[in-house]
Amino acid sequence: MNYRNEATQALERAKTILKEDKNPRYVALELRMAFECLVYDRASLFSEELSNKKLSTWQPKKLLSLLMEIDPDADKSCSISVGLQEELGKPANDLSLLGSERVLGLSEIKKYYDRLGSYLHTPTIEQVIEKKGATPEKIITRCNEIITILEAVLSSPVFNVNFRNWSSILCERCNAKIVRRIPFEAKRITAKCIECSASYQVTSLDNNKVEWMPIKYKIKCAKNTCGHINKLWEEEKELNNSFLCSICGSENNLVLCVSVKNH
Ligand SMILES: [Zn+2]
Ligand SMILES: [Zn+2]
Repeated sequence: MNYRNEATQALERAKTILKEDKNPRYVALELRMAFECLVYDRASLFSEELSNKKLSTWQPKKLLSLLMEIDPDADKSCSISVGLQEELGKPANDLSLLGSERVLGLSEIKKYYDRLGSYLHTPTIEQVIEKKGATPEKIITRCNEIITILEAVLSSPVFNVNFRNWSSILCERCNAKIVRRIPFEAKRITAKCIECSASYQVTSLDNNKVEWMPIKYKIKCAKNTCGHINKLWEEEKELNNSFLCSICGSENNLVLCVSVKNH
């Protein structure tokens, strides 16, 4: 499916319904579909990095957040310029702009997607009593704001820009392959396994090398006779969680406690 074309068609249908002064809820439905198409279009650029399971995530907000785990710039607009490099490794001084890509941002999806969904439901009894349901005028105002955004996105002279500078490892915790796009200027970023959420600090070194360090927290075994320092992943060090000491096997519980300062 050509999602970008589908998005353009949904946008055109939305504009026609608005022009014909029909029920604005149908406009909301078309714009919601355009949002979904644009995020699925973006996700198709990441098919190598995402498992099939993750690609089936349908909510645009969740899917785009997932893409941003792999590439923190997945929802950023960008420009492409070309120029003749005078010195190896240094950007050309004289650059000609080829075009800019306007991408749908996560903040825009957060702001509008659920709201569009709410327009498709009958107002609840509470909304009617408190006069909180969206009026047709309100829906039209929001839809016009969204149309402006979608027109900018869909009229970008360049789109689906996909330059990749990436690195991968097998997750130390669950053995899944983690692929992370490394921003060109970044020295250090955090990467999360999309299967088990284990976090890693990824550092760009010289000679195109990348170092992955698991982010773990040191927690001392509470058994008096042991005191071994265990290392826990971020999600494991939550209140009320427990872990088995890797040396003495004691079950340690992470609890709140009160202590008295020594004078
Ligand atoms: Zn993992
Ligand atoms: Zn122990």
